[in-house]
Amino acid sequence: MPQNWAQNYTYAAPRIVTANSVDDVRAALAEPGPVHALGTRHSFTDVPDTPGTLIDVTGLEGPAVIDAEAGTARVTAGTRYAVVAEQLHHSGFALHNMGSLPHINVGGATQTATHGSGDARGVLSTAVRSLRYVDASGELREVSRGDADFPALVVGVGAFGVIVDLDLEIEPDYLVRQDVYHGLTWDALLANVDAVTGAGDSVSLFSRWDEAPGPLWVKRRVAGAEVAAADAILDAVRSPENVSPLGMGDNITELGTAGPWYLRLPHFRADSEPSRGDEIQSEYFVDRAHAAAALAAVREIADGFREHLIVTEVRTAAADELWLSPAYQRDSVIIHFTWENRDAEVRAALVDIEAALAPFDARPHWGKLHLFDRERLEAVVPRLADARAVYERIDPEGRFVNAHLVVRVGLRTPR
Ligand SMILES: Cc1cc2nc3c(=O)[nH]c(=O)nc-3n(C[C@H](O)[C@H](O)[C@H](O)COP(=O)(O)OP(=O)(O)OC[C@H]3O[C@@H](n4cnc5c(N)ncnc54)[C@H](O)[C@@H]3O)c2cc1C
Repeated sequence: MPQNWAQNYTYAAPRIVTANSVDDVRAALAEPGPVHALGTRHSFTDVPDTPGTLIDVTGLEGPAVIDAEAGTARVTAGTRYAVVAEQLHHSGFALHNMGSLPHINVGGATQTATHGSGDARGVLSTAVRSLRYVDASGELREVSRGDADFPALVVGVGAFGVIVDLDLEIEPDYLVRQDVYHGLTWDALLANVDAVTGAGDSVSLFSRWDEAPGPLWVKRRVAGAEVAAADAILDAVRSPENVSPLGMGDNITELGTAGPWYLRLPHFRADSEPSRGDEIQSEYFVDRAHAAAALAAVREIADGFREHLIVTEVRTAAADELWLSPAYQRDSVIIHFTWENRDAEVRAALVDIEAALAPFDARPHWGKLHLFDRERLEAVVPRLADARAVYERIDPEGRFVNAHLVVRVGLRTPR
């Protein structure tokens, strides 16, 4: 039976079809019954599943069409970031940010507000200027920045149609240097969270919530290959050894030297298997104003879950205006957990973590495992009901309705 990338979920859909073209998507939608788009399968739950037909969009790939004057690249939805990014670099352009993994396809990543890190960098979906999707009736539709439905559809968790391509904002090519810092103490971190997350263009803290918070992975845009990195960030000292931070394996992008943005912003190299698989991931967005208190609250309960945790990563994202983005109107600190693939133990840990983060109105990542239900989500996602109304209007028969969207998170209405 087909599984997701992490092998912690087996799709129940009785039928999977591969779409290599817009016509293939329309042909799949011409058949009656429930449908849902399936991307590179990097989400961790039943979010893409359907009792009908899964439309695998990873065949919708190909070179991007760059419009230098407009500052955009038109990218087919199934194309992986690694492919788009390399092409953009060789054409003299760049994206504003990348996630930890370049293997993820653009359509699915932007539908779930996948993000990298950076106080001033929005989630990857904020680069979308317009998108085209096939709706439940098989019509090809377009929505652009400024259109009323745009903020509901860019992050839409596959709830309204199958995206076939997107125009992403691009900028001139740039260099990034990344360095690892060891020795940060909890006292220094919690008293100066902004100084830590602002120490580079993209900062990640890797932690097991031990006596010390753990290493910092700092990525900075640099003007040239010779630009030196700071030797210290608070009480953390730059590692001269350029070894992988805690728990990341050897397949990481190069440390200690400047290089093209697309070979430095992701943590993992595109030419090898990322991370480790056989894992579960969870992640929560909290207003950055509460970063220190939220980190302290999780630290307080960490003895209860550490044995199931592989590693935590703490990142940031700038506020945006996309209704379902967990960074909607909130500069955010993002607390991530990579877990051993132990479903019951992880769910028990999430009960405690979600309770610890509840006072901060934490919002979960749509593609990762969380325990939020419709009611709790409506309390923390202010435009959830508005987004649902858009999806119900676009897909009145409910062809894109599935158990996750209805029963779990309330993005669609029960039939
Ligand atoms: C090793 C690893 C590292 C990761 N790193 C990060 C990270 O750095 N930052 C981060 O934020 N997340 C990260 N993630 C999570 C991942 O980015 C999200 O779960 C994302 O949704 C995966 O997209 P996908 O298309 O592969 O997933 P899928 O499970 O295939 O799809 C996810 C959702 O998108 C919808 N969808 C997919 N394609 C389309 C389309 N063309 N049209 C409409 N809807 C579509 C699906 O219906 C579903 O609802 C990581 C995941 C893994 C496994």
